[in-house]
Amino acid sequence: MAFNIAIDGPAGAGKSTIAKQVAKELSYIYVDTGAMYRAMALFFLREGIPPKDEAAISAACEQIQVTLSNENGDQQVFLNGENVNGLIRTEEVGNMASATSIYSKVREKLTQLQRNMACTTDLIMDGRDIGTCVLPHAQVKIYLTASVETRGKRRFLELQEKGIDCNLETICEDIKQRDEQDMNREISPLKQAEDAVLIDSSSMTVEEVVDEILQLARKRM
Ligand code: C5P
Repeated sequence: MAFNIAIDGPAGAGKSTIAKQVAKELSYIYVDTGAMYRAMALFFLREGIPPKDEAAISAACEQIQVTLSNENGDQQVFLNGENVNGLIRTEEVGNMASATSIYSKVREKLTQLQRNMACTTDLIMDGRDIGTCVLPHAQVKIYLTASVETRGKRRFLELQEKGIDCNLETICEDIKQRDEQDMNREISPLKQAEDAVLIDSSSMTVEEVVDEILQLARKRM
């Protein structure tokens, strides 16, 4: 049976940075499920489908194929065969992903894909519902969080480094709104699984968080 590590948590908690490093240490595949929701959101945006139109979004799901590949440890996401990695990191796509991930058709499609990958491959998967819904039998489950201020500051510095003009207050408001939406939706809301280990990274370094997860994983291998 494959060994699975699930990491869930709110936007900006550092899940992908941490998961990538843990995957590298263990020579595991890293799966960023948020990128899959973002790829679908990009399709809906391109088609001009309003996020509130559940019928149109559900129908459009039939026309979408999301696939992943791993190149030198970096995940590449494909939308109907097109590599969309460079197009899905905008706030517009992130907000559309959050607004459309509430629908059962969207979630069912991606959940199935994620489960198929995990049953045959040792991997670390991050998202919002991995420990609670996608991989309830994952050997290690982490709920990674940090204060809104910490997450906002991290995202602010990240964007500034990329030369993108941004405002700390707006980023914190965006994060709060995304938390609200992800934690209160009806299907698979973001919450800590009962058997998940809570890590608050507000005053921890990346290395400290990675070490803690590696220790937990090695104990259960
Ligand atoms: O993690 P990221 O910010 O890229 O995710 C974008 C959005 O996709 C989230 O705000 C959430 O609404 C949705 N998502 C989800 N379930 C997951 C991963 C992401 O609902 N497993």
